Order: sequence, then C-alpha cells, then structure tokens
Amino acid sequence: MHLAEVLRLRAIPAAGVCLEVTRRCPLKCAHCFTNSSMASPEPPADRLLRFAGTLARRPPSIVLMSGGEPLLRPRLVAEIAGLAKAAGARSYVLSGAYFATRPRIPAAIRTAIKAVDHFAVSMDPFHEPEVPRTAVLALLDELLSEGTAVSVQTVDGQAEELTALLRDRYGDRVPVLVTPLIAAGRAADRRHRAAPPTDSSVTPCALAAWPVVTASGAVTACCNEQVVAGAPAPHLRLGHIDTDDWPEIRRRTLARPMLRALRTFGPGYLAARWAVDPESGHCATCRRLPAENSKAAAELDAPFGTIAQSVVAASVRQGGAAAFARRYGVPEYAELVVGGEPAHGPDQ
Ligand code: SF4
Repeated sequence: MHLAEVLRLRAIPAAGVCLEVTRRCPLKCAHCFTNSSMASPEPPADRLLRFAGTLARRPPSIVLMSGGEPLLRPRLVAEIAGLAKAAGARSYVLSGAYFATRPRIPAAIRTAIKAVDHFAVSMDPFHEPEVPRTAVLALLDELLSEGTAVSVQTVDGQAEELTALLRDRYGDRVPVLVTPLIAAGRAADRRHRAAPPTDSSVTPCALAAWPVVTASGAVTACCNEQVVAGAPAPHLRLGHIDTDDWPEIRRRTLARPMLRALRTFGPGYLAARWAVDPESGHCATCRRLPAENSKAAAELDAPFGTIAQSVVAASVRQGGAAAFARRYGVPEYAELVVGGEPAHGPDQ
C-alpha cells in the first residue's frame, strides 16, 4: 500500500483508526512530542486485540499503528495487522527504527513488518543521533529489495537535504511526508512556525476524522497531542475500548454533531458563533469549545450549514493525498507523498 492511499483517505470520517500500540520508546529524540521513554504508559495487549477483533463488523479501510515505538511490541503489531487483514482493512506502522543498528532485523520485527501493508520510518536530525542515517538507509535498501511498501516521515527544518538525498538514492520509490514540528512533549519550546491566529472564517478540520485509541484505552476524535495526552475536551472524547467496540466508535465519529460541525466549519467559526474567546491556533481554540451537540446540530441544520456540509463532503471526496499533505504537512514538499504511486484518479 502506497503512502498516498493512506493520505487520500485521511480526511474521510472513520475510514481509518489510529492505535497507540505503546507510548514507550527506547530512543531519546529531542523533538519527541509524546515525550516517550521506556517508563511511558503501555496498554495491555489483550485490550487492544479485543478491540481490533471488533473491526470486522464495520471495517475501516486503514488501521494505523504508532507510538511511542510500536515495534517494541512486534508480535502485537503482527497480530493487529492480521486482524485488520481478516476484517478487510489494510495496516500501516510508523517506526523510529531503533533496531536498525543491529546486524540483522530481529525475526519478530521482520515478521511484523511483513504483516503490515506499509512501513513508515522517521528520519530527521533529531533521530539521527539515536539511529544513524546510514543504518536507516540500509534498512530501507533491504526492505525495498524485498518489495515492502515504505515511506519516510520527516520534519520541517532540514528536510531539503534529506529529501534530495532520498530522491538521488531511490528516485520516487520512497515517498516522503514532511510535517511541521509539533510543539509538545520534548519539543514544547521548539516551535518553528507560529500557530496562526484563529479567525472566524470557515476552516474545516479534516483531522477530526480518524479516531485515535490512546495508550490509556480512551478514544479521542483526533490526533492532537494535547487531546491524546488527556487534555480536558469532552467534545473530543469518543469513548473507551474497555466499553466501546469499533462499530460504536465509528457510529459516534460519524454522527456526533460537534464532530460533524468541526469537520464542516472548524473551531474558529464555532467559537465566534458561540462567543468563546479564541486562542492562537485552531486546535487550542477547539479545545476551549464546550460540548454543545444541540447547538452544533442547529448550525448543521441551518441553510448555510446544509450547503457547507455538501461543499466540504465534495471537497473531501475529491481531495487527494497531496492536497492533504499541503494542508497538514509542509506545503512545499507535499508532492513527495505521491511519488512512485501507480496511476490513479485525480489527486490534487
Ligand atoms: S481542530 Fe480540534 S478536532 Fe481538529 S485536530 Fe485540532 S483539536 Fe482536534
């Protein structure tokens, strides 16, 4: 599965589900927005497997596994990938490749990588003191030679040199997603781009589309790190996998008026309509919003809301992977996410 297939679905509500397989990580990257260490929380495997076993009843298209370092639990990753496959979904794992310095890929990790449909690896100046670039390139060489679908995820700042190197070495066989640094965790004071002031214009949030199963078992409506880490934002809580299965989480994702309103109007518009003082940045403003499902339903049912929903739905259907990366990644590198993908429909 190509990276572009994942990103093309990323704005479609409940087309995917993200699983925090663990918050633990053996690396100490200075930009880690989850502030992961080997003391970080880790959910019991049986809890995740039980939830993954419910995917088959209304399968998503993609199961995305991240962390922390998900390949600290390679057997669990392989088992979840197997359950996803049995449900008719495809799977993706994002790793920091902590194992790449070993002479061989450990057997259990190799099995996990083979079990998923896409292997993404982080490469950036913050990872390199932990895992040398040469080791990650050797890993990519090996996986590509075996036909594994891979991509690189990197961060804004020094992406130009890395993307040029990857292009010279691999042509378009390794798509690259360049994201902004997330100013949270160990990167809290490393903000490269200031959060834009929030205005009251309609700015739909496409990230309130794929539920995130956090390491605590709580399920959030988006991947905003403050929300995932437990910031009080009741309108962005979807449930808990100890009590809610995937069909119920999916139903809430699709039906909750607050989430539909965030996907249609965005937080700045709702804050202005409801006289909530905005913060700098859409996510900060969003977290201040009250859980006003009845008011959100009224906004959606109003004539403007009806039109806005159909316009946004059409734009999500037509929006491609590069369009998603342009908005949520670093725009100047957005086209790199579609590199090497076989021909498909419109993707701008
Ligand atoms: S705007 Fe709200 S729903 Fe969207 S990503 Fe930010 S916090 Fe989440």
